[in-house]
Amino acid sequence: MSIIIKNKEEIEILRQGGRRLAAVLIKVAKKVAPGVTTAELDKYAHDLIIEGGDEPAFLNYKPEGQSRAYPASLCISVNNEIVHGIPKTSKVLKEGDIVSLDLGLKHKGLFTDHAITVPVGEISKASKQLLNATKEALMIGIEEARAGNTVGDIGYAIEKFVAGKYGIVRELSGHGVGKKIHEDPYIPNYGKRGKGQKLIPGMVIAIEPMLNIGKAGIITLSDGYTIKTSDGSRSAHFEHTVLITNDAPEILTMI
Ligand code: MG
Repeated sequence: MSIIIKNKEEIEILRQGGRRLAAVLIKVAKKVAPGVTTAELDKYAHDLIIEGGDEPAFLNYKPEGQSRAYPASLCISVNNEIVHGIPKTSKVLKEGDIVSLDLGLKHKGLFTDHAITVPVGEISKASKQLLNATKEALMIGIEEARAGNTVGDIGYAIEKFVAGKYGIVRELSGHGVGKKIHEDPYIPNYGKRGKGQKLIPGMVIAIEPMLNIGKAGIITLSDGYTIKTSDGSRSAHFEHTVLITNDAPEILTMI
């Protein structure tokens, strides 16, 4: 495992990039409405990033073990899709859907990563509760992202908060981020107190719980990217890029 500690200049660039990414995602979220296609949202996110002079981090990204590169800028996962949904002109959002928007941005050579799940119009009470719980799980994980704590403390706090009320996706996890879109260490959304990599000031990590209303199991679709729940239940995903400091954690993907 190679942990990359970012220097002052790099941290400043990551702060700028994180703010730009958050601003783009807020604009994209405002476009979410019944009748909008996921391809339109992707194009909008892509254009906003390019207009800002930055690069979309996911477009043409080829994860290890994948035979083809990711074909879009934004990952859009609807309802029972957990992550990595590929935008399509044929995929039209409907009232009552929940939509996870996951976006990465490269600013002056450095990467930040951010995701939110938003409602399409009015959604059910169960969906609202899922969104709120996942967002809260992220904030509880971030609270543990402190120098001297470990990766296990983050996962432990998230798992304890969820307490069996939702399925926590185990095959996917948060990760270091900055020089590359995915760096060491992995940050699982479950864990044991005090276990795993120690957190050090200057580390930059993406924390990203994914919670399912039903079971934790996942299925990958034949497109090779889209991951959905094995039981068809709805899933939500929230993610921030966070800087470990000598003091409180600093959320970089925020305006
Ligand atoms: Mg990520």
